[in-house]
Amino acid sequence: MNYKIPLFDLNFNKREEKAAVKTIRSGWISTGPRVEEFEKRFSEMTGSRYALATSNCTVALHLSMILSGICSGNEVICPSLTFVATVNSIRYVGAKPVFCDIISHENLNIDPEKIESKITSRTKAIVVMHYAGFPCNMKLIMNVAKKYNLKVIEDSCHALTSDYNGKKLGSIGDIGCFSFFSNKNVSTGEGGMLITNIKKYYEKAKLLRSHGMTTLSYERAQGHAVKYDVLELGYNYRMDDIRAAIGIEQLNKLGKNLVRREYIRNKYLDLMGEIDEIIIPFRGNMNKVSNYIFPVVLKKGISGKRDIIRHILKNNGIQTSVHYDPPVHKMKIYLSNIQLPLTDYVSKSLISLPMYPNLNNGQIRFIVNKFKDAITKIK
Ligand SMILES: *Cc1c(COP(=O)(O)O)cnc(C)c1O
Repeated sequence: MNYKIPLFDLNFNKREEKAAVKTIRSGWISTGPRVEEFEKRFSEMTGSRYALATSNCTVALHLSMILSGICSGNEVICPSLTFVATVNSIRYVGAKPVFCDIISHENLNIDPEKIESKITSRTKAIVVMHYAGFPCNMKLIMNVAKKYNLKVIEDSCHALTSDYNGKKLGSIGDIGCFSFFSNKNVSTGEGGMLITNIKKYYEKAKLLRSHGMTTLSYERAQGHAVKYDVLELGYNYRMDDIRAAIGIEQLNKLGKNLVRREYIRNKYLDLMGEIDEIIIPFRGNMNKVSNYIFPVVLKKGISGKRDIIRHILKNNGIQTSVHYDPPVHKMKIYLSNIQLPLTDYVSKSLISLPMYPNLNNGQIRFIVNKFKDAITKIK
């Protein structure tokens, strides 16, 4: 179906085209100078000492687990209201994900108090995910991590440049991971980034990104090296220069992109203010955030009608989504008898409304009016 208003719209124009063509014509398209420039820009922007571009975020998460020394027999505490890759990465190294519930129907992030109750002698790390770009309570989470000597990995896919007490999300824990999949705030088709302030993590990640080899083809082509050795069992998790060149153009647009997203969120808040039947998560948040998505949670009386509301919006040409249903702990490969009542409720009651920089006032009003109509109809 072709939606009149999609959930997300790619923010690409001639600039991305030119950057890609220029890289193709340069004669060097695999990992090289554009990747290096993209990484440099990214580490400056996030205030982290090191940034390593990868082929996607899932592999950055996998590398994070290896760097944190997670292995078979270990447990890693994680949210369930997230994309499945957050949790799969724990399994890649043979460890066990221990799901933890969210704070409330209003704060959809992992609950630091519940984290503490899940810690055992096998716990080695906590993975957090900053939902929609709103910060987890990193102060409490870092305190718990310190108390029990745990690593902290931030899945920051939603949270590119979100502020937290003068820092950027992703740069607070031991490692931060980002995605440049098409529908993220910065898109390169596929792509990811790992950031850290720990030099030995960066060096090991760089080695593992390219088969454990001591030199890159680009270095050899430049005459900086003639041969290589293999020091670790590595992977091919590299990003190429064509994608990095597109990523650099996307970073150039990010400032404006985020101003628009904030404006759109505020517009939604204004127009949806008095709808009694919904909760707008993170409503009171005062941090400057990425506003990756705009979620609303239906209150108890109407939460069973979520899919009918989505259907009515669809019939009006409005695409919506749900971040996330099923939650990961309800997926077949993760099923157990663990109870996460808040995650369960929210995943059944969430709707993500369209959010992208070019959404205009008329479209936002149209979406909100149709949403209000839908609520009146189902009651
Ligand atoms: C997009 C996303 C990922 C996966 O990123 P890829 O680059 O597609 O591997 C992981 N976690 C979250 C929260 C995401 O939104």
